Amino acid sequence: MFKRTFSTLLIIAGLLFAFSCAGPQAHDIDKALASLSAGSLAEHVKVLASDEFEGRAPVSDGEKRTVQYLEAEFKKVGAQPGNGESYFQDVPLVEITPNPDMTLTISGGKSPMSFSYGDNLVAWSPNAKDKVDVKDSELVFVGYGVIAPEFGWNDYEGVDVQGKTVVMLVNDPGFATEDPEVFNGRAMTYYGRWTYKFEEAARQGAAAALLIHETEPAAYGWGVVRNTWMGKQFSLVAEDGNVSPCDVVSWISLETTEEIFGAAGMNFQEAKARALEPGFEAVSLGLKASVAIENSVKNSISQNVVAVLPGSDRADEYIVYVAHWDHFGMDPTLEGDQIFNGALDNATGTAALVVLANAFKNLGEPTGRSIIFLASTAEEQGLLGSHYYATHPIYPLTKTAAVINMDGLNIYGRMKDVRIVGYGQSELDDYARAVAAEQDQIILPNATPERGSFFRSDHFPFAQQGVPALSAGSGIQHREKGEDYGRQLREQYNRKNYHKPSDEYDDSWDLTGAAEDMQLYFKIGYRLAMESTFPSWKEGSEFKAKRDADMAAR
Ligand SMILES: [Zn+2]
Repeated sequence: MFKRTFSTLLIIAGLLFAFSCAGPQAHDIDKALASLSAGSLAEHVKVLASDEFEGRAPVSDGEKRTVQYLEAEFKKVGAQPGNGESYFQDVPLVEITPNPDMTLTISGGKSPMSFSYGDNLVAWSPNAKDKVDVKDSELVFVGYGVIAPEFGWNDYEGVDVQGKTVVMLVNDPGFATEDPEVFNGRAMTYYGRWTYKFEEAARQGAAAALLIHETEPAAYGWGVVRNTWMGKQFSLVAEDGNVSPCDVVSWISLETTEEIFGAAGMNFQEAKARALEPGFEAVSLGLKASVAIENSVKNSISQNVVAVLPGSDRADEYIVYVAHWDHFGMDPTLEGDQIFNGALDNATGTAALVVLANAFKNLGEPTGRSIIFLASTAEEQGLLGSHYYATHPIYPLTKTAAVINMDGLNIYGRMKDVRIVGYGQSELDDYARAVAAEQDQIILPNATPERGSFFRSDHFPFAQQGVPALSAGSGIQHREKGEDYGRQLREQYNRKNYHKPSDEYDDSWDLTGAAEDMQLYFKIGYRLAMESTFPSWKEGSEFKAKRDADMAAR
């Protein structure tokens, strides 16, 4: 009697377990991991990076093909629509296209100078106006153009730049001095980013802002400036109707800069050195700038693609995988190849979303928490799609335990090291470390923090909203050929292919390291999806206070 009842209970308990809370026992983890293969990744990358997808620019035929492909592939693997009945989230954008027929003229020197669009000057207007016209605006050198109270720094101290044109250096004083006591030393802070500098210039009421391009502190050459900021520029539709006191923002080349400082009777290198000295004061160049830009302004809608695998017992808690699907589209003014295929950046990450969705489906039973797959738009235009999602979340952010961003998987074979962008910020680092160890990998900080990568991809808008977000990927310690080999390949990519039409899929790619990356992303997400903990930011992280307050208030 006792025996029978006990075994009946066991059977009932077993059935309850199988049906109500599919635990790890019920999950076919081997099958899931096996599907995270180099071959399955390559299959999607080849399609997304093909010429037919026209470089995947937002609001283009390339966008249509891309988002339709992703919808079809998510359906195929059994991931459900992530936004009600739909796989799409509308992202309202403003497109501002400057007429390239513009000239920056500088007067007040011995003879007037003029610089045309492209080789020396890449300017655009953040204002959604048909025409902006900056006339005889006094040029002021404001050093790094930074106001950073926490670092005791104010380049605008005692100077009124209302209506004037500010000229400023890229990156931050920590990078230039390499002094760990100055800002964050060589690692770039947000104050070093071009976005911050233009925002600050607008806050100060400047009519125009000229940002001096130097390859090392900018982390990219003039070619990247041209490819990124010439032509159509997108922004999110803003409540203020996309107006800014700053009519014109611009990169200027180093040669242009040296000519302008020369005309002012100054030496640029000396001025740059002075900008690092304590007590530096902004200085008028005694010159005037004029530039007029005619814009064509258009409102448009782009799409984030969102799919979901609903969880079992905690379906209202979420793990988000994000990767941007967009790239730069086409440039008909280029000779030869005009298509920016963006194979590594970011057909690889986008493809990984589909492969990961398939892997989670291959577990056989749902995970405890729901898994969201977000293919974001307009990342290359300033993280617009992810910013829109993070400020208009489909799933509550306080119920979102973690975000895992993928931007450019490894194409050079298996690496020993996994590099975390913004290492030390959140407890997600510890999840990554545990999982990496299982794969015989080690966790290290991003090898080039001076590039400001933490502010340059889709994890950042989530971090700004307080959600712990991880951006990690395999590093440079090639398992067979060593670190120098790995480093050289990375540097070669940055020099030759980054944001250029030559970022194309190649059969010689070795995606075994990318497969290992995907397994890492899968295992981190799986662990989090089976837990009930909410990882937090670490002590000292600038995002901790917001998350703690949001979690306390929910
Ligand atoms: Zn990217």
